[in-house]
Amino acid sequence: MTLDIRDLSFSYRAGFLNNRLCPVLKGLNLELDSGEIGILLGKNGAGKTTLLKNILGIEKPDSGSVLIDGTDVLKMRRADRAKLISYVPQIIDFGDLTVYDTVMTGRISYMGLSPSRSDREAVEKILNDMALSDLADRSVEKLSGGERQKIAIARALVQDPKLLIFDEPTANLDISNEALVDTEMVRAARERGVAVMASLHDLNQAMVIGDRFFFLSNGHVVRHGGKEIISEELIEEVYGVSVKIMETGNTKFILRKEIQR
Ligand code: ADP
Repeated sequence: MTLDIRDLSFSYRAGFLNNRLCPVLKGLNLELDSGEIGILLGKNGAGKTTLLKNILGIEKPDSGSVLIDGTDVLKMRRADRAKLISYVPQIIDFGDLTVYDTVMTGRISYMGLSPSRSDREAVEKILNDMALSDLADRSVEKLSGGERQKIAIARALVQDPKLLIFDEPTANLDISNEALVDTEMVRAARERGVAVMASLHDLNQAMVIGDRFFFLSNGHVVRHGGKEIISEELIEEVYGVSVKIMETGNTKFILRKEIQR
């Protein structure tokens, strides 16, 4: 699977008559392949969430397109799009469902009037793969933030998607829960061959899990590539803050040098 974003422009509409355009994405290009983890980076307000919404078909571009293996996502039937692309929200409110039933809601685009044997098998397999079987009958509300986020990932993966979208998936989690979620993102890419696209604000977390990095600024991807593109100059240019980069093994650590004056 290839995600191919071509010349994508998007504006929000504001004002009394919805006639004032606020351009956010201005002819943006991006490509991501199966099995890769792509990380969207850029200052708050750069347009990361807006781009993810355009990929999901929640927002419609003014011009340009989001193609999956050459097919425009907006031309797909909603159920077909849901099978290809899954979204893991940052804050999840499952209500009072059990873990099993919550994950089953991920099968809705496959289901007839009620879950079939193959739906039940798919749910059981994913719970087993993600070591969640012991929690199957527990209420999601009673679980920790990290466990809940894992269940959101299980619900997304049970759709058997080709592309998994995360918007700041660990923004509310402590370091151990962040590690749980990161592990599942990496497993989805490496073991299932899913393309993962995530927006992150933590550059060091991005370095640990990312394969491809896309820096958004002024409505464009201003730089993209593997870890080799990450430099003190680039971070300074995109975020306007001086940093020191330390390299150990395969990882780069980004340290902020000083407070803003
Ligand atoms: P990021 O995810 O990088 O922080 P967003 O995509 O959330 O950025 O926002 C990009 C820009 O679009 C910001 O200037 C934000 O204020 C604006 N914006 C976001 N949502 C809306 C909306 N629903 N209506 C109008 N402007 C919006």
